[in-house]
Amino acid sequence: MSKRLLLVGAGHAHLEVIRRLKSEAWVNVEVCLISSSRYQYYSGMFSGFTEGLYSLEDTRVSLEKITREARIHFIEKTVVSLRPKQKKVICHDGSVYPFDVVSFDIGSQSLPKAFEHTVARTIKPNYEFISQIEEIRNTTHPLIVGGGAAGTELALSIQTYKEKNQIPGQVKLVTAEKVMNGFPKIVSTRLKSLLIKKGVQVWEDESVEEIHDHYIVTNSGNKIRHTSVLWLGGASAEPIFKRSGVEVDEKGFALVRDTLQFQEYDYIFGSGDCITLTAYPELQKSGVYAVKQGPVLWNNLSQFLSGQPLQEYDPQKNALYILSTGKQQGFMVYGPLSHHSRQAWKLKNKIDRDFMAKYK
Ligand SMILES: Cc1cc2nc3c(=O)[nH]c(=O)nc-3n(C[C@H](O)[C@H](O)[C@H](O)COP(=O)(O)OP(=O)(O)OC[C@H]3O[C@@H](n4cnc5c(N)ncnc54)[C@H](O)[C@@H]3O)c2cc1C
Repeated sequence: MSKRLLLVGAGHAHLEVIRRLKSEAWVNVEVCLISSSRYQYYSGMFSGFTEGLYSLEDTRVSLEKITREARIHFIEKTVVSLRPKQKKVICHDGSVYPFDVVSFDIGSQSLPKAFEHTVARTIKPNYEFISQIEEIRNTTHPLIVGGGAAGTELALSIQTYKEKNQIPGQVKLVTAEKVMNGFPKIVSTRLKSLLIKKGVQVWEDESVEEIHDHYIVTNSGNKIRHTSVLWLGGASAEPIFKRSGVEVDEKGFALVRDTLQFQEYDYIFGSGDCITLTAYPELQKSGVYAVKQGPVLWNNLSQFLSGQPLQEYDPQKNALYILSTGKQQGFMVYGPLSHHSRQAWKLKNKIDRDFMAKYK
């Protein structure tokens, strides 16, 4: 009898599973992708799009096209609930999809609940990015909350866009820790200097407590005026897992074993930002890990469906990050090493274009 595998979300690891299905289809397995948008947007191209270097089509993969090529079903819906014991997922419109095996790669959210009803914008889920950034980059004093890779990169690319298009004003960046906290001190110091040199106003060690229509208030009482607020203050979990009663970490991310299977359910898999690996709870929520989980997920789904032993995912010790800093310059970080140059941007551009070509 045929089994049904549901892939929920078209994140990085699921793109790899779909790519492999084009040439290595499983026998007697019906595969469906359920994802909220008909496109998957790639965050590696977001800074280049913001600055005006990439077109809309450069940044996204058509899910209708790739699922057709892989001969799998595509359902454009948002999953809002998981019934793990009954083996069902429920979508926003009330439709119910039963499964034999399910895999989640739905990314993360970014706006904390406390700020949901304020003017703060978020670019998560990632299909929100284009419309949000097109508005934000044209305002005079956009304020970015969060000094991680995403906040730093977008602050620099919005500032560059403003300069290129002679839009007056200045980007502001407020971060609760240091810029690029968690990276070596030299990286943090160099990127902060670069932000300031390019014209971005930076507030470090200040967390945002209130967001009002035209200003924010930080924990030290600073009032900072803005024309729009973009929240990039770190990943928060989709509420689906907590609500469904599966084991989650203290932030609500689903806990998975090294095999990418949920803690207490062999037939539920997870990858990317939406999960926390029990053995590596401190691993950053970042695309580089989601990409590397793709081949392991493909192998483990294949093995599980045929009753074979699964492989363990072992995250790499150091990950390569290249941040676009504007005007085709890149800041490359690998472990303790860092380097700012045009070559670094060229390498980033090649990696990102190759990634998109592989999945389109
Ligand atoms: C500006 C920016 C720059 C970044 N730069 C880097 C970088 O340089 N290096 C790096 O490693 N990381 C970077 N990141 C982080 C990176 O984007 C994320 O870690 C990565 O996208 C997570 O991938 P994912 O596979 O978990 O899911 P995502 O890529 O977020 O995809 C999730 C998918 O699930 C779908 N979905 C969501 N919810 C549901 C639902 N309930 N039901 C059905 N479908 C759903 C979405 O539509 C989407 O298709 C950056 C992020 C940003 C915003």
